[in-house]
Amino acid sequence: MGRSVLVTGGNRGIGLAIARGLADAGHQVAVTHRGSGAPDGLFGVQADVTDGEQIEAAFKQVEEHQGPVEVLVSNAGITDDTLLMRMNEESFTRVVDANLTGAYRVAKRASRSMLRAKWGRLVFISSVVGLSGGAGQVNYAASKAGLVGVARSVTRELGSRNITANVVSPGFIDTDMTGELSEQQREAALAQIPAGRYGRPEDIANMVRFLASDEAAYVNGAVLPVDGGLGMGH
Ligand code: NDP
Repeated sequence: MGRSVLVTGGNRGIGLAIARGLADAGHQVAVTHRGSGAPDGLFGVQADVTDGEQIEAAFKQVEEHQGPVEVLVSNAGITDDTLLMRMNEESFTRVVDANLTGAYRVAKRASRSMLRAKWGRLVFISSVVGLSGGAGQVNYAASKAGLVGVARSVTRELGSRNITANVVSPGFIDTDMTGELSEQQREAALAQIPAGRYGRPEDIANMVRFLASDEAAYVNGAVLPVDGGLGMGH
């Protein structure tokens, strides 16, 4: 059965692959963008997840277009890497506001109609770094670890209403985000990946498609690594 889906940051990278994967599976998929416009064949709404009013307006547009959101994929995220000694508070707060508080904002808004429908899927895109930590990533790792607490608390609050909340933890995925790293950093990462290759956005999309499906009804509050073995052991 096709569901009404919203993917934040679904205009490019992992979010776009997730959106396309869910559309291919027969769902009605909307994506947020911050001015780039909607990708071909997908319904786009402009919203910055750091702005509650823009989120409210985006949800209203999606509701008018395809009905209340039944599957929310909170994917929008940023990095601003630097070592703790050099990380200023503005950087820490900005990354947490986009990656963690942004996820709280959209999940809260989506939960309203999910509760009414007594059905829902919340998927939070975290990172292997959320649990393993990463040098130069105090802000980012804190925001990504926080998503586990969000998903598991939501699971305890809403699990009995057929609403699941799960976390997907990608490893090193080839996108604009990792394209910014130096060749040395990319090679060092590759050496740590048992699968012997970087991940593709579609690797993440496949997991999200499963989590959004009826087959995943009994997967609650899980942290699912999709990382080629990079983070094994957490
Ligand atoms: P990209 O940098 O390629 O894309 C980031 C997406 O997030 C863009 O769509 C961007 O929109 C959107 N975005 C950023 N900030 C905001 C905001 N404030 N409001 C709304 N949208 C925003 O990243 P990836 O595709 O690689 O990453 C997607 C998610 O996966 C992120 O949460 C990231 O942390 C996570 N991840 C990525 C990994 C990787 O190796 N690539 C590994 C682990 C996790 P815009 O186009 O407007 O900038």
